[in-house]
Amino acid sequence: MTVPIAKLSFWGVRGSTPTVDPATWRYGGNTPCLELIAPDGTQIILDCGTGLRMLGSRWAAPNGGKTPETHILVTHYHWDHIQGIPFFSPLYVENNEFQFYSFRSKFLGRDSLKQVFEAQMALPYFPVDMSAMSAKRKFKEVDGGDSFTVGENKIMARWLNHPQGCLGFRIETPAGIVAYATDNEPGDAKLDGSLRELAAGADIFINDAQFTPEQLETTRKGWGHSSWLEGVKVARQAGAKTLVLFHHDPDSTDRMVDSILRRAREEFDSVFAASEGMVVTLGAPGDRVQAHMPGTRTALRREAQFHAKVCGVTESGKDFEEETVVRDISLQGALISLKHLPRLQSELQVTMEAPGGDGIQTMRLRGYVVRIDAGAEKGRSAVGVVFTD
Ligand SMILES: [Zn+2]
Ligand SMILES: [Zn+2]
Repeated sequence: MTVPIAKLSFWGVRGSTPTVDPATWRYGGNTPCLELIAPDGTQIILDCGTGLRMLGSRWAAPNGGKTPETHILVTHYHWDHIQGIPFFSPLYVENNEFQFYSFRSKFLGRDSLKQVFEAQMALPYFPVDMSAMSAKRKFKEVDGGDSFTVGENKIMARWLNHPQGCLGFRIETPAGIVAYATDNEPGDAKLDGSLRELAAGADIFINDAQFTPEQLETTRKGWGHSSWLEGVKVARQAGAKTLVLFHHDPDSTDRMVDSILRRAREEFDSVFAASEGMVVTLGAPGDRVQAHMPGTRTALRREAQFHAKVCGVTESGKDFEEETVVRDISLQGALISLKHLPRLQSELQVTMEAPGGDGIQTMRLRGYVVRIDAGAEKGRSAVGVVFTD
């Protein structure tokens, strides 16, 4: 018998509005979108922020085409959770089938999500007409308190404390339980209880961590968001195993998210900060959480003098080989073989040495651990880092 495995991918983790500021690239600038592939092949998408476009560009038919339908759960209608819809290319492909789930908004009435679709693509807001969206779309209304099953997975919806309402979802798969609670603020006893219900015993509890505890008590009170400290409290009370800090503030730089994560880790053992490209595997032996970072977005430059041998082909087609000095090098990351096992999403100081023009050159860099492949080599781990400054 094979072990059931579920795969949870983070395509967008930023709250409120996308960011393209280079200081936010490491955690990512796309707004909320997650994808859960359950052990039975069921594909569930959580929210349609700008991360949805990225998912669409790497689209593969769910379950190798065996399960034609994709299930999309939309928590609420704020921009950052619906913005990716018009840019989700699989919606323009005839044979694709989507089942959407969301609630009836008192501001929109019946078929709220369908209305949101139409309004987003109405003139003059979008150049393409709705009729171009040729995929099959079905809409189902869900209310806080509802439970339903998709394949062999049980989904529970609960209201969360957020302006104009927001649903939290708990998905129970044979490989483990994922609780998705974005956009919520503590302080309403009943809804705080719903949040704990969603998180009860969850393997992965994804919670809003947009603000610092200090902001939440003062300037950002009533804005509908939460903090790492609240997440830790709920995770502890509800017996959640791993907490994922989510919906990072657009004004939070990577350094700020690093410090939020550090503070949370002082209080709770298993915490990660959601980052774009992060993949969490549930049900795998050892329950390993893996993170992977897209590697092509930025580079750090360091002046150096490395001796190098360069081989190539000249303009006139002749092979050449030449010894020279590399004076400027751009660095994104490295794969380092280590006997120690560093923590995922922690910092490493990496000092590299190379003989240069005037003796040994050293280059000091700060690495942020994005991947660990334990046991690739006996007694050693391959540790992937991206360099940060
Ligand atoms: Zn939001
Ligand atoms: Zn919101």
